Amino acid sequence: MVDKLTAVKGMNDILPPESARWEWLEAIVRDLMGLYAYRNVRTPILEHTALFVRGIGEVTDIVEKEMYAFEDRSDKHGQAEHLAMRPENTAGVVRAVIEHNMLYEGPKRLWYTGPMFRREKPQRGRYRQFHQIGAEALGFAGPDVDAELILLAAALWKRIGLTDVRLELNSLGQPAERASHRAQLIAHFEQHADKLDEDGKRRLHSNPLRILDTKNPAMKAVVDSAPRLIDFLGADSLAHFDGLKAILDTNGVAYTVNHRLVRGLDYYNLSVFEFVTDRLGAQGTVCAGGRYDDLISQMGGKPAPAVGWALGIERVLALLEEEGAAVPAPVPDVYAVVPAAAAMPVALQVLQQLRACGVSVQMHAATAEGLSSFKSQFKKADASGAAFALVFGADELARGEVIVKSLRDGSGAQVARPLHAVATWATTLQSPAPNQ
Ligand code: ATP
Ligand code: MG
Repeated sequence: MVDKLTAVKGMNDILPPESARWEWLEAIVRDLMGLYAYRNVRTPILEHTALFVRGIGEVTDIVEKEMYAFEDRSDKHGQAEHLAMRPENTAGVVRAVIEHNMLYEGPKRLWYTGPMFRREKPQRGRYRQFHQIGAEALGFAGPDVDAELILLAAALWKRIGLTDVRLELNSLGQPAERASHRAQLIAHFEQHADKLDEDGKRRLHSNPLRILDTKNPAMKAVVDSAPRLIDFLGADSLAHFDGLKAILDTNGVAYTVNHRLVRGLDYYNLSVFEFVTDRLGAQGTVCAGGRYDDLISQMGGKPAPAVGWALGIERVLALLEEEGAAVPAPVPDVYAVVPAAAAMPVALQVLQQLRACGVSVQMHAATAEGLSSFKSQFKKADASGAAFALVFGADELARGEVIVKSLRDGSGAQVARPLHAVATWATTLQSPAPNQ
């Protein structure tokens, strides 16, 4: 039992003013996805545990140790379902695509955003509830759509003013190519078994490719001297990789080929990529993705190629802050000063009309102590950042008017406006730039 109620460790409240940064990013993403004709999908947070075991792979960190999975209460037949909070959303999207036969009419471009859950050690940029934005293109086989997805991510960095990310690329080839590489990789690591750490030894026979992904600097030499997957790729895989690089070159997208880039999840093939930064320590991967041509059939769907990426919202926002990039803070256009309760009915009526005209208004409302003094209301108006105060004084109201006072231009200019024609002066209160 806890005496003080707190949020669960590693799960954060996102509150104002921080939440404004999230809304700002989400609005840009929504707009950008529209420009690239990606359509939004919303899948459940809870899925059958089996979905992630099949979709992500049994010998992955996520499924082995990070998933919030539990047995639900049993139904009337004594059957209980095994459910899990989604640790990522590609599996969920693919399930939905198969379940609803979405590729029947042709390929699809989809995107999502929402919370994901992994029981990891919480630290900056690594949480137990974190949030991703993801884009998936399903049913397209060529490197062109891989490039489109990378260009989409690059466009997002540009829009939000993020500069300190670099793109790393690799090709994982096809399963048969990986199999012959795998044999040589195991031989190499067995020869140098003394240089492997715990994780390395454990992965040696379950998932040796993942050893390349180690963050342990002591293993750098043994990893650097390991056989490179690229040398095992056949002509088709290489052509796909070259195709992707050519499009990126033409479009001025800089990248480096990182032969050790393998990604944490089992289902990737051909192109894999990450946008990384050095400014977030070990949490330097901001966005990661790749091709997963075998996943749809592996999950029981009609075989179809696919590719996608997911970015971590917390990391993107942390990096933006690290870079000192300006994120606009929302302020109301108008703060309504209401000296007496008697003025409230008319005040609310006027404010409704202003909002209908697109003017954002913060109203001074009564607290448990009632309405505060005129002076203190004006202080609040100033602190709100609004450009104008609307003053609903009794005398003006009696004349059918309200006072509009300028708060930001230093003039303190006041003008009386008619209550019966709000729409005629509403536009004079709107800030020139959109309020986001
Ligand atoms: P890492 O190597 O940092 O653990 P990952 O390979 O597990 O990342 P993915 O599963 O590819 O990450 O998820 C895509 C993105 O989601 C990551 O690049 C990162 O930005 C973000 N992400 C993943 N796990 C977390 C987490 N626990 N907290 C915050 N963001 C995360
Ligand atoms: Mg991870």
